[in-house]
Amino acid sequence: MRCTGPRLAPSYVQMDSVLARLHVASMSIPQYLLASDLDGTLIPLERSAKRLRELREFVHAVRDAEGLLLAYVTGRHLALAQRGIEEFELPLPDLLVCDVGTSVYRVTDGVYAPDEEYRKEMRTAFGGLRGEDVKSALDGIESLKLQEDEKQAEFKVSYYTPKNVDWVLNEAADRLKSAGARVNLVASYDSVLERGLLDVLPAGVAKDYAVRYLHDHTKIAAEHLIYAGDSGNDRAAMLAGYRVIVVANAEESLKSDLRKEAAKRRLSGHLYFAHHPFARGVLEGCRHFGVL
Ligand SMILES: [Mg+2]
Repeated sequence: MRCTGPRLAPSYVQMDSVLARLHVASMSIPQYLLASDLDGTLIPLERSAKRLRELREFVHAVRDAEGLLLAYVTGRHLALAQRGIEEFELPLPDLLVCDVGTSVYRVTDGVYAPDEEYRKEMRTAFGGLRGEDVKSALDGIESLKLQEDEKQAEFKVSYYTPKNVDWVLNEAADRLKSAGARVNLVASYDSVLERGLLDVLPAGVAKDYAVRYLHDHTKIAAEHLIYAGDSGNDRAAMLAGYRVIVVANAEESLKSDLRKEAAKRRLSGHLYFAHHPFARGVLEGCRHFGVL
């Protein structure tokens, strides 16, 4: 993992060719994949000297690790993820999942290239459409205001909505159905902005979908794939059957829910509840699973 400045590749690449190059470059076949959420997991929510020191400790340990593939799995869009990586001097990942699991980038020598095969999967999951087609279908619904360009992705269309959003959701769902789209409509409320938010995502796609894709395509053994996270949008990925680090700062309700669900699915041994928060918790979990 090198620290040259990231830039977006002009063309798309195939996952296998990049993996092959990675193998040649490192002369060692990756044995482990650490897939980590960013905000609230590696990136601390409080910016104290202590937290930044702990993050440095994690960064050094990962940089020295042999045979480790690193992936970040985030709700952020590409530019914002890159900004976070630079700002907190995180190691460049080998793989980057953005936009709540709707985009995957391969990272080689600081170049972020969208994964072509994943794009095809997203298009199929969207019912053969792209974000542009979704925008056209929803054009003219007065209460839906498109969010800023940088918050849009090829397979994620994001709107601002009024607070009471029910009729808007019904209208949007009807129109999208007529257009042949297959979608998840994810509505939430931003209490800081005091605005409703609506994400239109391909049906069935979230972080867990992307993590399964990384597993299939890196061919890392399932017991060597470790997912680290802190909040509700990590839940499905945490119950996907891989090894899991729950950082100590995760909400108590999520922790007890995970304990219950994991017991039901006979996955309890797969989950590690770290004693430490944020990056220190991820480091602790990596050591627990023998990654570092
Ligand atoms: Mg998080």
